[in-house]
Amino acid sequence: MSDEIKNIIERMEADNIKFIRLQFVDLNGVPKSIAVPYVKGEMENFFTKGMPFDGSSIEGFVEINDSDLILKPDISTYSQLSWRPEESAVCRFICDIWTPEGKPFVGDPRSILKHALKKLKDEYGYNYNIGPEPEFFIVNIDEDGYPVPYDDASYFDVEPKDKGPDFRRELTLNLEELGFDVEVSHHEVGPGQNEIAFKFDDALKTADAVITFKQAIKAIVNNMAQFDGLDYRVTFMPKPFFGENGSGMHCHQSLFKDGENLFADDESESGISQEAIYFIGGLLKHAPALTAITNPIVNSYKRLVPGYEAPVYEAYGLKNRSALIRVPAARGKGTRIEYRAPDPACNPYLAFAAMLYAGMDGLKNKIDPGEPTEINIYKLTEEEREELGINVLPSSLWEAYHALEEDNIIMDGLGEHISEAFLKSKYAEWDDYRVQVFGYEQERYLDL
Ligand code: GLN
Ligand code: MG
Ligand code: MG
Ligand code: MG
Repeated sequence: MSDEIKNIIERMEADNIKFIRLQFVDLNGVPKSIAVPYVKGEMENFFTKGMPFDGSSIEGFVEINDSDLILKPDISTYSQLSWRPEESAVCRFICDIWTPEGKPFVGDPRSILKHALKKLKDEYGYNYNIGPEPEFFIVNIDEDGYPVPYDDASYFDVEPKDKGPDFRRELTLNLEELGFDVEVSHHEVGPGQNEIAFKFDDALKTADAVITFKQAIKAIVNNMAQFDGLDYRVTFMPKPFFGENGSGMHCHQSLFKDGENLFADDESESGISQEAIYFIGGLLKHAPALTAITNPIVNSYKRLVPGYEAPVYEAYGLKNRSALIRVPAARGKGTRIEYRAPDPACNPYLAFAAMLYAGMDGLKNKIDPGEPTEINIYKLTEEEREELGINVLPSSLWEAYHALEEDNIIMDGLGEHISEAFLKSKYAEWDDYRVQVFGYEQERYLDL
């Protein structure tokens, strides 16, 4: 038996584990899991062979006539689920998905990110780090079934206006127990809106953390709501309320080699390296296609409008929060690029992989993003924007998936299986949406 397996079995025995949850995500980043009971004596077999399952009912996976897949626990992701009972404890492994032939399954979003990270490592010797800032709303459901923000606080407000400290406290403690570090948590601009920002870490670990976080906060808030006898819940919908800020998941990113941040350069005037500039060039070049992945639902595009600190224009700036990419002031180890388009409805594995392919294209082809834009782009006229060569991000899911279809770098990066499944699912989503008639239209047009 390998040391790794021996150690994990010892640890599970010591933690009194009775149930093992095997977790993965579907095409859309929705967490899926099965629980298997801990059986003494059978664990070595379980860790080496994995757990077969039927993949045909998972969105984006396989056809019913070829449906066998295998869940292979990633032993390094072991953690106890702190929001479940302590007695007969539950642990969780994030899994890779394999085919019965023992190959990584091409439809597994986690394997797509692993593949992108391996390419970066093989070709450049670099690591890719991400620090995400997911935002979310906590809402009450009113008598008519409509969501209303559960408090009326705004940016950085304190209690009693801010009703979120207990949630954020619980969540931070739980995430720490699960091995993830929270950088900062606070009330956001919108009523009922919160943010929990993560410390940056390796992109794979961070994608695992985002999924764990989304699951944990929903479970924790649901437990608290049951305790209070109230119906409040968490939503990661990018724009739940017209006229209020939406929820983004800005992604701070950097490349490291042997512990050195390659985006920092003391010698250059801006303090950022040529590599960082090329990476920005790649992100900007592929921004239209990336948007399909980082902003994957119809509602995502109601956030990407002027006036709410969400990006609309394909430009970068050093301090500029009206641009798609900002380079925050920190230098040295903390030097990073903030890509502001992603929202928390995205599949983090696919989003991080796609951004990395865009950045690598920038490095490889030395893509020059031009000079940074430091003016408020929201205030420019169309002519002024055109003069500066600033394009507008896709304004609908329809535009975004057409941009994706035309971008071979991103399509190839995601691989044929995922690209095809993704586009098929987005076509269907758009077709479903475009035939709906909304209250807004009835109010506006009924008396025509
Ligand atoms: N909510 C904004 C967005 O949609 C960001 C606001 C902020 O972080 N200050 O991206
Ligand atoms: Mg923040
Ligand atoms: Mg924020
Ligand atoms: Mg931010």
